[in-house]
Amino acid sequence: MLASLRAIVQEVNSARSLPEVLTIIVTEVRSAMQAGVCSAYLFDETDQRYVLMATEGLRQESIGNVRLGMREGLVGLVAAKQEPLNLEDADQHPNFAYFEETGESPFHSFLGVPIIHHRKVLGVLVLQQETQRRFASEEEAFVVTVCAQLSGAIAHAEATGALRQLASAGRGKSREAIFQGIASSPGVGIGRAVLVSSSTDLSAVPERFTKDPAAEIKIFLEALKATKRDMRNLGDGLASKLSEEEFALFEVYIRMLDDRSLVREVKDAIKQGRAATSAWSSVILKHVRTFKKMDDPYLRERAADVNDLGRRVLGYLQAKDTEQTSLPRRIVLVGEDLSATALADIPVSRLVGIISLKGSSNSHMAIVGRALGIPTVMGAVNLPWTELEGQELIVDGSTGEVISRATRTVRRNYVQRQREERQFNKDLEKLRDIPCHTPDGKRFSLWVNTGLRQDTLQSLKSGAEAVGLFRTEIPFLMRSSFPTEDEQIEIYREQLVAFSPRPVTMRTLDIGGDKDLPYFPIEEENPFLGWRGIRISLDHPEIFLVQIRAMLRASEGINNLRIMLPMISNIPELERALQLIDRAYGELTEEEGYSIKRPLIGAMIEVPAAVYQVKEIGRRVDFLSVGTNDLTQYLLAVDRNNPRVADLYHTLHPSVLRALKSIIEQASSVKCQLSICGEMAGDPLSVVVLLGLGYETFSMSASSLMRVKSMLLNVSCKDAEILARRALKMPDSNAIYKFMAEALNQPEVAKLLSATPKRRTETSKLIA
Ligand code: PEP
Ligand code: MG
Repeated sequence: MLASLRAIVQEVNSARSLPEVLTIIVTEVRSAMQAGVCSAYLFDETDQRYVLMATEGLRQESIGNVRLGMREGLVGLVAAKQEPLNLEDADQHPNFAYFEETGESPFHSFLGVPIIHHRKVLGVLVLQQETQRRFASEEEAFVVTVCAQLSGAIAHAEATGALRQLASAGRGKSREAIFQGIASSPGVGIGRAVLVSSSTDLSAVPERFTKDPAAEIKIFLEALKATKRDMRNLGDGLASKLSEEEFALFEVYIRMLDDRSLVREVKDAIKQGRAATSAWSSVILKHVRTFKKMDDPYLRERAADVNDLGRRVLGYLQAKDTEQTSLPRRIVLVGEDLSATALADIPVSRLVGIISLKGSSNSHMAIVGRALGIPTVMGAVNLPWTELEGQELIVDGSTGEVISRATRTVRRNYVQRQREERQFNKDLEKLRDIPCHTPDGKRFSLWVNTGLRQDTLQSLKSGAEAVGLFRTEIPFLMRSSFPTEDEQIEIYREQLVAFSPRPVTMRTLDIGGDKDLPYFPIEEENPFLGWRGIRISLDHPEIFLVQIRAMLRASEGINNLRIMLPMISNIPELERALQLIDRAYGELTEEEGYSIKRPLIGAMIEVPAAVYQVKEIGRRVDFLSVGTNDLTQYLLAVDRNNPRVADLYHTLHPSVLRALKSIIEQASSVKCQLSICGEMAGDPLSVVVLLGLGYETFSMSASSLMRVKSMLLNVSCKDAEILARRALKMPDSNAIYKFMAEALNQPEVAKLLSATPKRRTETSKLIA
């Protein structure tokens, strides 16, 4: 059964449409269960009924015609109760409804299992047998497993299919489709989709077209030639280590690439207007599917070889992707798993929106989106992204919605909203030179988080008093190898000079987690709990020392450098890092004659272990900064990058607030400077809680700075303290959020709150 399950899942995942997905499911499940009938019913939102969408065993004419109300028939009952129903004699059940057109009269036994995705019933999978017997409990368990495993694929195919249907029904007219993701950087962006495909996954190749088939065919033939050359070299290089049989496999690969009918198929598809990447991937996927269906296990296994070969050729094709060159004037960057590296290939000045299918509002791509003030939607899991190249999209970074083929009225409304937002931001800019004091005279400091060249300018304009976090890994991400000491000096010096005499806090390399350097890939099962941040730096002192030397040398004569260490989770690693910094400083000043002022050194508090050792850490450094992004994910055991659990990621969780309170108490007791540089500091509502807890220095994306300032100019410190005290006593984050939103719902601040990304909870309605 497990083998059948795996095969079904594999096949479904490579299908490209809803009918294809459902046909595979009913065919394969019926055959695995040796049942008479397997049918799939899906809920039709418009009709509010369950519709027979695919069947093996019932009459095909009944597809689309059999429809059952919410509680009608056995299907309606299974959906309403959200649990399996296993009957030996279905016709005796009071809920039984008979549909003559299906030809189901000979079938007596019935097993219905709900298909549930993210707590929502999508439909019901039904098995029927002629014999009067209950399905065995193992059979029931198998169908439950199939439904649970495939509900995501069905939901995705449904959403994708909806877009295609709308597109064809529209016959050129504008027909709207809305996709929900996670609101990650506020504002509205309207532009044309530019797809970024970072992997050589054949099923994630963007659908692209060409106006120059001859050029694409040439590229395709060159890619084939290059791959054949690689295979030959690889085979020759391994000749002495391989058995004759294994060696022969390389010849088989080369012959596959020489196969005339395969080449012709791809060429034909290109001649019909498809780009080489699209033509190649769809032809290869078709062959992979054919191999997978073969009865002979040896041939079935060859599916993996064809797939591998396909990926190799695709790698060459992607490197030559010519269609990318003419970029639209307003770019909406779309990708399956976008990272800041994607920005290296486009003119950022033309970027108006960012959409990623993976990731969440605390992923680093979202942080970069906020830093640049670009509307961003993450976790848009159902977006049929490979088909959107060149299409106009509206990105609503405040609600998390992506709209394709918007109607004229909807588009007009969004353009109007853009105008209002621009005006709102202009009004906020007037606050730039107002001193940072709450109405009752409490002084607060607003710092910025930087990393990209492009956000430096915005940060300077925002009137920030310092850089609280310069993410040095971002310039590292944009390159194809580690920068040399001199190259790093140039990057750091530019930053230090731009902000001088204001302090600049440079964090040492914080890679790992969701920040993978293209030239230093880290493959781990559990990357956020793995080799990250300071752990990598300490394991590679040659990389760490070069970075420290570059920072120190860059600061010569400017003297505004602060160095900060990420992911500190124990004292020995802090001490080791401090020793290495001392060593670099000593070598530069005593041995090499540089005249450099010793910078302040700090540590981040972003791991729960560090929360319990703030005093010990604080005694060893000059300053501390709380990284609430990681602290929240580790305290709540919620991956900050996973859209599936995004609803559980709350910086206003009582445990996070209690940790923040403890951190400030401990830091004050050892008189260690403290700031906060996680995204929480850039959220106008949360910042009031932080002020109430005693925090005074907030470091955030430049685009959030004026909103936060506007909030703090309006809320007295005394009120903030009362609110924070009450919030600390509340049982959960929703209660805290609701309480804070209501308390701050005065005319001056309500507009501010509505301009920040909405939380995906029912409480968000309160401030909408
Ligand atoms: C944090 O974890 O809060 C932080 C500021 O660091 P990063 O988001 O870069 O991990
Ligand atoms: Mg962090």
